[in-house]
Amino acid sequence: MSSPYETVIGLEAHVQLATQSKAFCGDATAFGAEPNTQLSIVSLGYPGTLPRLNKKQLAYAIRLGLATKGQITKRTTFDRKNYVYADLPKGYQITQDRAPISIGGHLPIRLPDGSSKHIRLHHIHMEEDAGKSIHSAGKNYTQIDLNRAGVPLLEVVTEPDLRSADEVAAFMRELRRLVRYLGISDGNMQEGSLRCDVNISIRPHGSKTYGTRTEVKNLNSMRYARQAIAFEVQRQTELLDEGELVVQETRQFDPQRGQTFSLRTKEEAHDYRYFPDPDLPPVQITKKQIDEQRNRASQLPWLAYAHIYELLENDHKDTENIIDEPEVYFWFSQLMDAGLPPKHTAKLVLNKLLPWLREHDLQPAQCPLSAEQIGKYLQLIESGKVAAAQANAKLLPALLEQPEHKPEKLADELGLMQLQDDDFLFRLAQVVTSEFPDKVAAYKKGKKGLIGFFMGEVMKRSQGKAEPKATRAILQKLLENDA
Ligand code: ADP
Ligand code: MG
Repeated sequence: MSSPYETVIGLEAHVQLATQSKAFCGDATAFGAEPNTQLSIVSLGYPGTLPRLNKKQLAYAIRLGLATKGQITKRTTFDRKNYVYADLPKGYQITQDRAPISIGGHLPIRLPDGSSKHIRLHHIHMEEDAGKSIHSAGKNYTQIDLNRAGVPLLEVVTEPDLRSADEVAAFMRELRRLVRYLGISDGNMQEGSLRCDVNISIRPHGSKTYGTRTEVKNLNSMRYARQAIAFEVQRQTELLDEGELVVQETRQFDPQRGQTFSLRTKEEAHDYRYFPDPDLPPVQITKKQIDEQRNRASQLPWLAYAHIYELLENDHKDTENIIDEPEVYFWFSQLMDAGLPPKHTAKLVLNKLLPWLREHDLQPAQCPLSAEQIGKYLQLIESGKVAAAQANAKLLPALLEQPEHKPEKLADELGLMQLQDDDFLFRLAQVVTSEFPDKVAAYKKGKKGLIGFFMGEVMKRSQGKAEPKATRAILQKLLENDA
């Protein structure tokens, strides 16, 4: 049933940066450390401590801004966002309110049907993360881990340009790819390196004004985001259908119930009382700083997509799989530079080599087979010297175990080389045809399907090693010309 309403979504995506130390002090940022071990008095906001901006955070922020074609703010400033919460030891979060590092720009996303769309960005700003509250099941208390307090984040705020959960998923996927291509974050949603607040409203189709939105906070998996969007759209639809109003509020998603519930309405909304952080002077961005990042901002997943899509002759799915991880894309690009055949190499990489590498906990760059070895292996199949099924089942595993061996020699040792010797195949074909004169006669009268029977006989007598293409050609010649 199609709804009379259109869904309108804007995102506030948080990217945790892959820096060694925190945004404003030297504390480590490693994920999974013993709780409350990566904490100094700066993270804890003790009186008299002074924050100092992590240069990497600034560099990464500029890089992401340039990659999304935002306007880099020449004089960027920091503000305090004040609120009280157990996981916020300082009582305020350092963020950027007045002059965020990047203004505008857009992220191109690709939808499941292969079409693409630009999602405009409102801005990108730098900030620090809060600690983590741990609510263990069955416990009547909450534990606080402050290791994450002060970890550097970039917040990417979109315009309300998204129209469905599919588009949200496509946006988050593209953002994940982008930050990985840029080398600024691992983009790992499970570990919370990528999360988003989803602002949702609905409006009658064709309406030019936006409806009242609700904001669902802190979704750290696409499954939850989809559930939260579906629930909110349904809830708002029912409200409007009953002539009621949507209340602008912040809501939280409950994964157990698959529902959102109200956290705070506008009336109760915290007054964050933003003000300039007196401890952090404005940062003047130099042309040199921008130029340095411009080089690093040129590895873009959508350019990778265009490059591979053309090589793979418009195969959307294989292209997506090749470019999804930058490590795979860079490796595949090297194989292409070495002149390997694109489509066959893509299939081999996706279906055989990557699964093998993952199984052995290796990165693509650590693949034991060189481009040359892979080329020779594919050539053996292409030329018909080894049957594809045999190559996949026996030759490839052997080659991966003994990557220094010549593929052809290994195939020979394993008895996998197909017989292509025309004289030998011709003699075998002669033997077979002379043994079945009635079938030869039937073939000549038009029962062309009998070619399969003769092929089978030659195969049997060659112990399956006769190369099919050559055998078929020889048999056809023999059956058609011979009197
Ligand atoms: P605030 O500053 O109060 O958080 P903003 O206007 O900056 O609000 O918007 C925050 C996010 O909400 C942005 O991602 C924006 O695209 C989105 N948004 C704004 N209005 C709507 C709306 N009517 N429907 C859906 N999303 C919206
Ligand atoms: Mg907001």
